[in-house]
Amino acid sequence: MTFQTLRDIMVDFQLVPRGLHDKRVLDAMKKIPRQLFVDESLWDRAYDDMALPVGEGQTISQPYMVAVMTELLALSGNEKVLEIGTGSGYQAAVLAELSREVYSIERIGALSEKAGETLRNLGYINIHLRVGDGTLGWPEAAPFDRILITAGAPDMPEPLIGQLSDGGIIIAPVGDRFSQQLIRITKEEGHLKSEYHTPCMFVPLIGEYGWKEE
Ligand code: SAH
Repeated sequence: MTFQTLRDIMVDFQLVPRGLHDKRVLDAMKKIPRQLFVDESLWDRAYDDMALPVGEGQTISQPYMVAVMTELLALSGNEKVLEIGTGSGYQAAVLAELSREVYSIERIGALSEKAGETLRNLGYINIHLRVGDGTLGWPEAAPFDRILITAGAPDMPEPLIGQLSDGGIIIAPVGDRFSQQLIRITKEEGHLKSEYHTPCMFVPLIGEYGWKEE
């Protein structure tokens, strides 16, 4: 089977039956070669219905979670997006297909470097990477129309809410260390509205406004 066939099967059997319907998101996930974001020894599992290790104790999220979070961001193509937790870079690639500009922060240098190489090889020029504590955001590039945290947070980090534009949406898995729920906060005329979505399980967000390092 070709990787394209595996991608089509992933979308048609893992995503569509679970209610995902944003055609732009589904098309992006049919297009992006997810196997290139994991080690070659995992290529035969790259389209499986699960998260996979990407080194340094971190993971590339399950395709379903990537799709759910991306769909909740309601991207139309013109947004400036901030991602916290670059990891493999796969989610950043999905965002880059669907928005104008992506800023992504990763705390582990080696992961950021590898992600940068993968994304450059794929020709993405609208993704900016930085190594650091993403809970502090990226003040020089703020405000952002959308913010996505792809690591489990104890609370929504305050500085990120401050860096969200009016009319913006921020999504994060919030909860305890081992289980969270996706929260979507929208900012309208300075007011915040929160909604709760899918239960989930992410590696911890570690930083000043996240969990403390063990
Ligand atoms: N979005 C990634 C998956 C992320 S896993 C992908 O598509 O592959 C979560 C990542 O968040 C890990 O790589 C972890 O190192 C990173 N992380 C944890 N706390 C962070 C913080 N405070 N700032 C930036 N990155 C953080």
